[in-house]
Amino acid sequence: MKPSNGNSSLPRVGYVGLGIMGRPMAGHLLSAGYPLTVFNRTRAKTALLAAAGARVADSPRAVAEASDIIFTNVTDSPDLEAVILGGADKAASIIEGARSGSIVVDNSTVAPATATRIAALLEKKGVHFLDAPVTGGEKGAVEATLAIMVGGDEKVFQRTLPLLQRLGKTVLHVGPNGAGQMTKAINQILGAIHLCAMAEAIALAKAAGLDPEKTRQIVANGAAGSWMLTNLAPRAIAGDFRPGFKAGLQNKDLRIALEAAAQLGLDLPITQLARRDFQRLVDMGCGDEGTQAIVKTRGKQ
Ligand code: NAP
Repeated sequence: MKPSNGNSSLPRVGYVGLGIMGRPMAGHLLSAGYPLTVFNRTRAKTALLAAAGARVADSPRAVAEASDIIFTNVTDSPDLEAVILGGADKAASIIEGARSGSIVVDNSTVAPATATRIAALLEKKGVHFLDAPVTGGEKGAVEATLAIMVGGDEKVFQRTLPLLQRLGKTVLHVGPNGAGQMTKAINQILGAIHLCAMAEAIALAKAAGLDPEKTRQIVANGAAGSWMLTNLAPRAIAGDFRPGFKAGLQNKDLRIALEAAAQLGLDLPITQLARRDFQRLVDMGCGDEGTQAIVKTRGKQ
């Protein structure tokens, strides 16, 4: 990333939450010329973006005051409520700093009900909200190849589209506020079930004395192939459990999906089994490892 102060004809952009996903995503907006102001709770994580030309603010509120479009990317529903609506320090929150007409675009994965609640509270101040969760992993964030599913007003979506297209390859408006997060919950049940299938396949290959990597190469290229087999199984087989997507976050997403399904009166038994396995992995102390560590819950390793 070359140092840049941004192009003054473009909207001023803010980014709150510079974790595994947020930092590269904010970096793409800066590289595209958008004047960028950032905040991260742990300030050290702002250093790379600051060196590349981003301004570093002292609070989510200060980011909102300096921005026309404010992105958020934090862990869970209560964290998003804290940065947007205010937790212990309400005065430091986005809602206190955002001006009427500005747009908050949330890239976190949170409950659909949280997205609709935040949208309604921001709208009272004339601030627009889009729930815009992403999929594609750390690799997708770094390479700007994410899929982004967006809930909210379609005209507001169109205004943010040029920015979202800097972050992802597939950007779709999927419905009103909450629809983006509901789509993401569906994505997460598919991903988690595929991960559990991957773990059982590797366990059986090993127990049967097959070469797990050769087995993976064959099945990943046939009808049983999946993103998990292509991207995460090689790491699992090599014993590399460093996180792209943390197991604890996957567990959180299964909780969100099951709660959303329950509110709709829907039973998802296979998702419940996947939740049981991810909860077990978290209970084993592996919540900060990558989701490929799910193999640790299966048979002979
Ligand atoms: P991460 O590396 O753990 O980063 C989480 C970020 O949220 C950090 O910047 C953290 O600040 C901030 N944060 C958390 N709670 C906060 C609070 N109460 N107040 C202020 N800041 C807070 O996680 P990540 O992998 O980037 O994931 C971020 C979101 O994207 C999650 O909702 C996740 O489910 C979703 N997601 C992740 C992936 C993936 O592959 N990693 C893919 C798709 C979606 P600190 O630095 O101070 O801890």
